[in-house]
Amino acid sequence: MVAVAPPLGARIISVVNQKGGVGKTTTAINLGTALAACQKSVLLIDLDPQGNASTGLGIPKAARERDVYGVLVEDMPVGEAILATVIPGLDVVPSSMDLSGAEIELVTMERREFRLNEALTALSANYDYVLIDCPPSLGLLTLNALVASDAVLVPLQCEFYALEGLSHLLNTIKRVKKHLNPRLEIQGVVLTMFDRRNNLSEAVAADVRGHLGDKVYTTVIPRNVRISEAPSHGKPVIVYDMRCPGAQAYIHLASEVMKRERSLAA
Ligand code: ADP
Ligand code: MG
Repeated sequence: MVAVAPPLGARIISVVNQKGGVGKTTTAINLGTALAACQKSVLLIDLDPQGNASTGLGIPKAARERDVYGVLVEDMPVGEAILATVIPGLDVVPSSMDLSGAEIELVTMERREFRLNEALTALSANYDYVLIDCPPSLGLLTLNALVASDAVLVPLQCEFYALEGLSHLLNTIKRVKKHLNPRLEIQGVVLTMFDRRNNLSEAVAADVRGHLGDKVYTTVIPRNVRISEAPSHGKPVIVYDMRCPGAQAYIHLASEVMKRERSLAA
């Protein structure tokens, strides 16, 4: 049994890395915002029980009653869990702490790796992109994201251990593609928290490009304090301070992603 594509042809991209704190949520939020600013309709699915993507998009906890847990575990139609954000063109399926139990509850469910894929197949709204913000693990939640996706986008933090764990991630992607979801491709790898005053950042970036070649986007996300301030205002950095280097980098990343999508989909 393999995954099926949703009938409306939205491109589904998972933002994945089993390490925490590498910039997954920041990337999902700001890529989503930048794509929406380019007139694309975008649905962001918050698949992390921490709910950082929901918070970063200004969704109050009280508004998260219908969430991705309901969709995955309780057969709630995904349309019932979709909320609009303050950004025109960007909707979100929020998460709540309930989701932390889903990892275990899914284990005994039938077709447990296909729950999100099946839910999205029934998505009736017309989105150009569905972005999935994954939790920092390669458990059943992330597996559901990989099975539901057309492509993965991997943020790698520019630090000494950047490549550690990457081969495990790439092997997981390979296995999902072979056994569960033949559609799955690697959209690209984005270097995050790049500090140009730090020689190590340069060395790590060169090392990663040496290993992964043109899988690595030209755009590099700089370490930028505005990016870390934005979530506490419940805004993507692109809305919080559009001119700052971090916001500009995510706008560039979105255009690279769209360019690659055109060639991947061709
Ligand atoms: P993940 O989702 O992989 O755990 P986050 O996107 O939540 O990672 O980022 C971890 C922390 O680092 C957050 O506090 C975020 O605001 C901050 N952060 C992410 N990217 C940057 C950056 N480019 N510059 C500065 N801070 C960043
Ligand atoms: Mg996160």
